[in-house]
Amino acid sequence: MHVPALNVLTQADPELAGLIQGEAERQHDTLRMIASENYVSQAVLEATGTVLTNKYSEGYPGKRYYEGQKFIDPIEELAIARAKSVFGVDHANVQPYSGSPANLAVYMALAKPGDTIMGMALPMGGHLTHGWSVSATGAWFRAVQYTVRREDGRIDFDEVRDIALRERPKIIFSGGTAIPRTIDFPRFAEIAREVDAVLVADIAHIAGLIAGGAHPSPVGHAEVISTTTHKTLRGPRGAMLMSDEKHAKALDKAVFPGLQGGPHNHTTAGIAVALGEASKPEFRTYAHQVVANARALADALIERGFDLVSGGTDNHLILLDLTSKSIGGKPVARALDRAGIETNYNTVPYDTRKPFDPSGVRLGTPALTTRGLTESQMPQVADWISRAVDAAIKDDEAVLDTIAAEVRELLAGYPMPGWH
Ligand SMILES: *Cc1c(COP(=O)(O)O)cnc(C)c1O
Repeated sequence: MHVPALNVLTQADPELAGLIQGEAERQHDTLRMIASENYVSQAVLEATGTVLTNKYSEGYPGKRYYEGQKFIDPIEELAIARAKSVFGVDHANVQPYSGSPANLAVYMALAKPGDTIMGMALPMGGHLTHGWSVSATGAWFRAVQYTVRREDGRIDFDEVRDIALRERPKIIFSGGTAIPRTIDFPRFAEIAREVDAVLVADIAHIAGLIAGGAHPSPVGHAEVISTTTHKTLRGPRGAMLMSDEKHAKALDKAVFPGLQGGPHNHTTAGIAVALGEASKPEFRTYAHQVVANARALADALIERGFDLVSGGTDNHLILLDLTSKSIGGKPVARALDRAGIETNYNTVPYDTRKPFDPSGVRLGTPALTTRGLTESQMPQVADWISRAVDAAIKDDEAVLDTIAAEVRELLAGYPMPGWH
């Protein structure tokens, strides 16, 4: 059963309540390994499902365009104060609706349409909003893109510097969605300074690791930090922009009134709760366990003959490169899903296959760490993955169903927040 209980909803709209129950049960029974996903706490669930969703509050605390902010203002102030304290920044804006709009606000604050901007190419591990062609950020700006080295899958800082010197971007984005290695913010900062660009650290994937001390912080290196709140940070779906005082006003103006109307106050409350959790010692333990689990899983996969982009991981994610196997990422992700292991197919750098059927599968350990799994279970997880890939090659669905039952049995011993 979903927790908090859906008693009234089940009466009022049984069809919808049934779908939510189904999803909760699916999340309970599945080894969720999509690197950007997690389980929020029951406290976060409760905060986001409140009457705060009823309230309009365009503007910022103390400067609103609507009356009745007696409780909303302190809620947003609490979220801001906690963001500043958890990440050690001068300024935080907790209103962006999600990571992509947050990044749009960064562009609006720091550049004009047609300006040159720079980011990591999507197939190399960057995000759509870092200037990829199909994104508004690729259409409205002159985007130049850096890659990773073919030999070792790592960022080539000589190339980053060469492109920056040649193209003189206004903004350089660091960070991405499929980068299994530590991001060298000081190195990016050096290059940005040299070409007078603003360095933006998009820490959407690793914010929780940074908050928990399991990845170096960009603070003091990147002038602007953009993050989602729902990935490793384990809050509700939302985003934040953080900066020094220099960019504070421009970022705030870009979020509102530049791009958005009223903030989603129920989400702001959930963010405040999640940041409160992120300031506790248990969160440090969680963040380090996420990395320890990814390392243990990477080792176990390598032992079983898998190739990993960059040869391993420093963080929460692993990019399986299936190029040497006689199967692509998409059928493997499908087979894994049938086997109760939820992942996504992903391009690998210099992929020889098409983006809709690429050679990679992305795996992440945040959600299974939240569930309570540790290094000792990672060989078992690698075994399941290995058996499922073999089964996918042989088209053996019975094996996949057997694995799904084994996964369910293991997970029955690990409680899920939001399900009882
Ligand atoms: C997830 C992600 C985003 C976008 O977040 P959404 O909430 O999906 O819009 C932006 N940048 C990076 C690096 C991400 O990983």
